[in-house]
Amino acid sequence: MFRVIKSVPRCLFGKGSFNELSGILENNRTSSNSHIVFLVDDFFKNKPLEKRIPLKGADYIIWINVDDEPKTKVVDSIRDQIKDSGKGMVSAVIGIGGGSVLDYAKAVSVMLTNEGSSSLYQGLNLAKNQGVYHIGIPTLSGTGAEVSMTAVLTGPVKKLGIKGEFTPFDLIVLDPELISEAPKNQRFYTGMDAYIHNVESMDGMNRNSISDSYATQSQTLCREVFLNDIISREEADEKLMVASYFGGLSIGHSEVGVCHALSYGLSYVLGLHHGIANCIAFNQLEEIYGKAVNEFHFMVEKHKIDIPTQISKRLTPEQFDKMAVTALGLEHMWRHAFGPEWPEHVNKERIIEWYKRM
Ligand code: NAD
Ligand code: ZN
Repeated sequence: MFRVIKSVPRCLFGKGSFNELSGILENNRTSSNSHIVFLVDDFFKNKPLEKRIPLKGADYIIWINVDDEPKTKVVDSIRDQIKDSGKGMVSAVIGIGGGSVLDYAKAVSVMLTNEGSSSLYQGLNLAKNQGVYHIGIPTLSGTGAEVSMTAVLTGPVKKLGIKGEFTPFDLIVLDPELISEAPKNQRFYTGMDAYIHNVESMDGMNRNSISDSYATQSQTLCREVFLNDIISREEADEKLMVASYFGGLSIGHSEVGVCHALSYGLSYVLGLHHGIANCIAFNQLEEIYGKAVNEFHFMVEKHKIDIPTQISKRLTPEQFDKMAVTALGLEHMWRHAFGPEWPEHVNKERIIEWYKRM
C-alpha cells in the first residue's frame, strides 16, 4: 500500500534558536485585527521560559495541564475559549511543551477551522479544512510529535489521532536548551519512545528504505545519548532532539508495532503517559523484539531508571479486558508487526498474558 507522507516543511534547529521566534512571528502579524495564541505546558508557569515568550498586542498564553494525556473534550474547550475570546482572528497557534502540548496545538489548529467536536475527526483525513498556521516547540524529545501527521487524542470511545494533511506543524523550532532541565526519569521515558519507534519501524511489513534510513540514524543517536559516557549533556540533548525527529519521520513512513499497541491499552485504561507506558510494555517484550529489549534493560540499569513492574497485580478482570480490547483494536499496528495473518498470532488471551507480566 502506498501512502503520501506529509512532514513539516520548515525546521529551525540549534541551541538558542528559540530566540528567533519573535522575528519569525512578524510574518504572522499581518493585520491589526489578529493575534497569536500560545499553548504552553503549565510546568513553565513562573519559570524563566515564560518571560521569553514573545507576546505582542492581543496575543495571549493558554496554560496547558498535561497530568492527563490530551483529550478531545479539552481540545474542544480550548477551541471554544479561543473562539469566544472576542479578540478577533487567530493568525497562529504556537505549542510549547512535550508531546502532549504539541498534540494539543496541532489539534486546536485543525479544530479552529472544522465544525463540531474533535472526536469526530479521530481517524485518517477526516478534517475538511486547512487549520490555522501552527508552530511546534518541543521541551522534551522522543515522541516525534513535532514532525508527525498525527495529534494523538483520547476521546469518548478510543485513543486515536487526528491524522492527515492539515495536522503537521508549518514550522518547528528545535532548541536543545529547552530540554536541558527535564528530570532524569521523564527524559529517559520520552527518549525511549524514539528508541522504540525505531525498533518497531524496522521490524514489520511496512518498513522500507526511507523508514529504515531514518530509524537507523535515529538509533545511532539514541545509543550515543544513552550508552556513550564521553559526550557532554549539551551534545546529548542536541542528538536526542534529532533522534526524536528522525524517529518520528521513520514511523511516518512505516508503522509502530506490538509495544505501542499494548502501551495504548495501558494509557487508555490506566491513564499512564505514553513514554512510561511504552517502557513498561517494552520491558516485557523480549520474545518479540529480542536484542533491542536486552539493550533497553542495559540502558535502564545504566541510568538507574525506575520502570514500574507488577502493575497488573492490582488490576481487575474488567480492566484487563478493556486494555486488551483497546490494544486489539489497533489493527494497523498488529498488521505491521505480524503481517496480514496477524489474527493467527494475536488474540485477546495472548494480549492479556502480556499485560499480566507487566
Ligand atoms: P508529556 O508532554 O506528556 O509531558 C510529560 C511531563 O513532563 C509533564 O508533566 C510535563 O509537564 C513535563 N515536562 C514537559 N517538558 C518539560 C521540561 N522541559 N522539563 C520538565 N518537565 C517537563 O511527555 P512526552 O513524553 O513528550 O509526550 C507524551 C505525549 O505525546 C502523549 O500524549 C502521547 O500520546 C503523545 N505522542 C504523540 C505522538 C504523535 O505522533 N503525535 C507520538 C508519540 C507520543
Ligand atoms: Zn510513541
